[in-house]
Amino acid sequence: MLDILRRIVEEVNSAQGLEQVLSLIVRRVKSNMGVDVCSIYLWDQKAHYLLMATDGLHPQSVGSVRLQRGQGLVGLVAEREETVNLHNATENPCYVYFPETGEEQYPSFLGVPVIHKRTVLGVLVVQRHQPIKFDTDQEAFLITVAAQLAGIIAHAEAVGDSLMPGDQEPSRGKPIHGLGGAPGVAFGTAVVIYPPADLDAVPDRKISDIQAEQLVFIDAVSSVRDDLQKLTDQLRGVLSAEERALFDAYQLMLGSDALVENTLACIREGNWASGALRKTIDDYVHAFDAVADAYIKERVEDVRDLGRRILSYLQKNGRAGYSFPPGSILVGDIITATMLAEVPIKNLAGVISRRGSSTSHVAILARAFNVPAVMGATDMPIAQIDGKPLIIDGYQGLVYIAPREQVTLEYQRLRREEEELSEELASILRLPAQTTDGTIVHLYANTGLIADVSPALNSGAEGVGLYRTEFPFMIRERFPSEDEQTQIYRQVLESFAPRPVTLRTLDVGGDKALPYFPIEEENPFLGWRGIRITLDHPEIFLVQVRAMLRANAGLGNMRILFPMITTVDEVDSAIRLLRRAHHELLDNGETIEMPQVGVMVEVPAAVYQVASLARRADFISVGTNDLSQYLLAVDRNNARVANLYDCLHPSVLRVLMEIVAQCKAASKPVNICGEMASDPYAVLLLLGMGIDSLSASAASIPRIKYMIRNFSKAKAEEILHLALEYEHGQSIRHFIHSVLVEHALDGLVHAGRANITAQS
Ligand code: PEP
Ligand code: MG
Repeated sequence: MLDILRRIVEEVNSAQGLEQVLSLIVRRVKSNMGVDVCSIYLWDQKAHYLLMATDGLHPQSVGSVRLQRGQGLVGLVAEREETVNLHNATENPCYVYFPETGEEQYPSFLGVPVIHKRTVLGVLVVQRHQPIKFDTDQEAFLITVAAQLAGIIAHAEAVGDSLMPGDQEPSRGKPIHGLGGAPGVAFGTAVVIYPPADLDAVPDRKISDIQAEQLVFIDAVSSVRDDLQKLTDQLRGVLSAEERALFDAYQLMLGSDALVENTLACIREGNWASGALRKTIDDYVHAFDAVADAYIKERVEDVRDLGRRILSYLQKNGRAGYSFPPGSILVGDIITATMLAEVPIKNLAGVISRRGSSTSHVAILARAFNVPAVMGATDMPIAQIDGKPLIIDGYQGLVYIAPREQVTLEYQRLRREEEELSEELASILRLPAQTTDGTIVHLYANTGLIADVSPALNSGAEGVGLYRTEFPFMIRERFPSEDEQTQIYRQVLESFAPRPVTLRTLDVGGDKALPYFPIEEENPFLGWRGIRITLDHPEIFLVQVRAMLRANAGLGNMRILFPMITTVDEVDSAIRLLRRAHHELLDNGETIEMPQVGVMVEVPAAVYQVASLARRADFISVGTNDLSQYLLAVDRNNARVANLYDCLHPSVLRVLMEIVAQCKAASKPVNICGEMASDPYAVLLLLGMGIDSLSASAASIPRIKYMIRNFSKAKAEEILHLALEYEHGQSIRHFIHSVLVEHALDGLVHAGRANITAQS
């Protein structure tokens, strides 16, 4: 069964357009289940389930049979969101007869809902002549097919039939839903980025110079041929002639019409070499995949392997070389911080990643660059949108592909309002973040790249609350030397002096990988990360803290922060190493001061030892991104559970209150440096808790300041008190939203000043 399922899914996955997807599903399900009818009904957004495809009912009924939710057996399946299995459907009181279908001949009925992200997209139905109930295996099979295909149907629906290569006008224009990664609205053009040598991730792309593209492809094939020849020669003494024959088979395939001619033909139709290659390999794989023979199956794998080899040459030869014209919106299955860092920032209009969430590091970086981002857009049809015009709504996490004029006009209006708001915010740039009753909250910026120092400087930040040193490590091909690091840190310290700058020691691991220091772990977020790595590698740690101390010479505005602290002895060890580095420099005759030291509280265990940590440190900084992830047991990058990741969850709020209370008791300042500090909803509550400072993305500082200046501390305390009466993070968010509306401050949390009304 698994095999059949995999084949259906693969085949449907490569179908182009909704019509083809649905027609394949009904044909394959009907033949594999040995039933007389298979049909699929989809919700048409006009309160109906519409018969979209059938194999078995009269074809003319497609597009004409429609049922409301709860009407007929199909409506019943949809309403109940569960299977209906009947041996004689006509006897059921819910049955509704549509003469145009000819279904009176098929009394037995099995319908299962097609559900994607908790939404019933439609109903998959099989029917039979014989009036007997379907058995439990058949029921289980249909449920599994529907569950597996739901995502593909959602994709196909979202794209409509309009976005196939060559088409211009969208037929549906519904937005793709993701998560707001970085606020703002962007208009631009999709530049799809895909991982190297991953055939499945290669998009279609139109080309104009067909001859040049064909030559590029032929070159790549001939390079692979040379490589294989070299391999065969090298293995001459190692493998028998028979075993080496495998490589001859490869060579034959490389010269075959199926591979070369078909790809060239596809290039002639206007697709680029990589896209044409992907299509040829897909066709080849599907043609042979249905064959049960194990030998043939092996050959299919060989073809895939050859495809990857050719692709890696196409990419090496610069055919994957991206160009980033002004207005580029990066789109990919997973956009990493490194990919983002490579784009000329002035040309980057937005970011869309199928995976990840608002606390992924790429989202953090996007906020630092003030570029709207949508994360976790799992339905983004990346293979078909390269070069398409897009609108991103980073507040609501929406993406419009080839938007209609009406949507464009609406977003243009919202952007104008946003610009007006920005002008208003600019007027308070040099004023303190002071409540109406006189409490001052210090606002610092989060940075990590030299490139984002100037937005931070211009945002009115009082300094840097979190400098993520891993970013300069990530964009290199080896660990930066002590001198290189000294220079990088010095630049930041000088830019802000005399304002304080908090440099965090290297925090890699988890989702932050260094290409030259790979860490393979089953559970990276619970594994070797942050201070755990650097304490295990004092040679790396000592170089870094020495560089920091040297960079601070003569300036004195640096503070050092240790990430991922779980136990007090980690703090003791880190401080011991820091002191050692300090002494080494003093011994060298350098005049260097010992800086203030801070501890990050981002592991739940640390929360209940804040008093002990505070005794050892000069300040506490709360990493709410990780703290929420660990408290809620929700991977901060996993789009599937992103709805559970909520920094307004009452437990997160109570834990933060506990931390603040312990810091106050120890008379040590407490800062929030997670993304929560950039969220205007959360800021109101943090103000009520009595937080001393916030460290947020430069782009959000003016909004946060505006918010703080519009409330009294007493009012914020009252709001916090009321918020804690709710049992759900979502209810707390709604409650605070109503407070913001009441104070005419809701413009701070969505595009423009009024709620977005753009609809498809
Ligand atoms: C955090 O966890 O909140 C934090 C600031 O650190 P990072 O996002 O870099 O893990
Ligand atoms: Mg963290």
